[in-house]
Amino acid sequence: MTSVDSSKHTKAKALKPGSRRPAKELCSECGLCDTYYIHYVKEACAFITQQIDTLEEQSHSRSRNLDNPDELYFGVHQDMMAARKQQPIEGAQWTGIVSSIAIEMLNRGLVEGVVCVQNTKEDRFQPMPVIARTPEEILAARVNKPTLSPNLSILEQVEKSGMKRLLVIGVGCQIQALRAVEKKLGLEKLYVLGTPCVDNVTRAGLKKFLETTSRSPETVVHYEFMQDFRIHFKHEDGSIEKVPFFGLKTNQLKDVFAPSCMSCFDYVNSLADLVVGYMGAPFGWQWILVRNDTGKEMLDLVKDQIDTQPVMSQGNRKEAVQQGIPAYDKGVTLPMWVAKMMGVVIDKIGPKGLEYARFSIDSHFTRNYLYVKRNHPEKLEAHVPEYAKRIVGQYKLPE
Ligand code: FAD
Ligand code: SF4
Ligand code: SF4
Repeated sequence: MTSVDSSKHTKAKALKPGSRRPAKELCSECGLCDTYYIHYVKEACAFITQQIDTLEEQSHSRSRNLDNPDELYFGVHQDMMAARKQQPIEGAQWTGIVSSIAIEMLNRGLVEGVVCVQNTKEDRFQPMPVIARTPEEILAARVNKPTLSPNLSILEQVEKSGMKRLLVIGVGCQIQALRAVEKKLGLEKLYVLGTPCVDNVTRAGLKKFLETTSRSPETVVHYEFMQDFRIHFKHEDGSIEKVPFFGLKTNQLKDVFAPSCMSCFDYVNSLADLVVGYMGAPFGWQWILVRNDTGKEMLDLVKDQIDTQPVMSQGNRKEAVQQGIPAYDKGVTLPMWVAKMMGVVIDKIGPKGLEYARFSIDSHFTRNYLYVKRNHPEKLEAHVPEYAKRIVGQYKLPE
């Protein structure tokens, strides 16, 4: 199993929208199959061929050291820190470090375009991938679209545009497919800025979640699972609606996550040059993983716009993770909700900083391992990467 690296470029016909994808129900709609790069789908699709270690070597010159505890969890990296923008970008998901880096790269001429995802005019949660060529277009893509997004559907446009230097922003499954076809894109330089990603939903799944949970689903502009055991929905008129986790209709919501995301083991975006998330950092800060020299070059561009501090780790997650496993297994597929419902326990044990990130990784990997084992047993061995097997192996799983 290797990435596609011959210099000949073969064209195939893109699939029609809505038609069944080669990865079938596991498809995460990454967008590759909307382009003629579908030709490479067997090698490139994260759900058909799992080859993270080979692609790590291609992207970072080595695969992760499984005997180094931080690399086992967070992948290849040369630096890790907590950071936040001194002047946060209004309306960004956290403080806007992702958008700021993209803007600097464009302004300084490092790249000619940035692949990112805006929303359609009609629907604020409907993802619309674009190649941004101005800071305004990058800013228009800020904030998460909490749905599967076909970011790679613009790959044909990249080739047609004749661009030679490109930044792609994306989540793990998109970046795996991108890395596998990278050498086919005719680029001189590809920069990859990733975010962690977990528990994503289809647009229909998101609708169901909002309709089952909010008093006014069509006016929700933003929501977050908060530490007070309630979901805070922000509405168009600025009002905040708070719904207790305990009141959630979990029986109706148990299948809300996409099967791809229930089978995903690339939470920390292993193949990006630079990863910007939040879960390994104190509340209000973002969490940064510099994977290679390209990632360092990208982060250096915003060094004078951000405050940084070293990462910290506190508490012990193991018991809380183990206690949570039967709950997911009984059909509650929402680990963060379970985690927060168990907030008292969690608070006492207090996993903070990197230990909180490990808590979230362990909870999701054990749930996903069981999901693949039950629903796609024939895929289990090849699909689950070695690092994930070791992480899951720390826990007692039900048969
Ligand atoms: P902004 O400056 O607001 O920019 C956000 C960027 O994300 C934009 O450039 C946009 O193009 C891109 N984007 C938005 N939606 C999508 C999408 N659906 N697919 C691909 N790209 C997209 N971090 C964690 O630490 N732990 C998590 O569990 C976690 N879960 C996430 C789940 C999802 C579905 C997503 C999209 C992100 C998740 N993140 C997670 C990342 C985190 O929420 C922030 O996106 C990240 O910290 C960047 O914040 P920012 O303010 O710098 O981004
Ligand atoms: Fe194609 Fe991407 Fe779906 Fe795989 S996940 S089948 S590459 S669109
Ligand atoms: Fe892709 Fe995994 Fe995120 Fe789902 S959870 S959208 S499969 S990276």
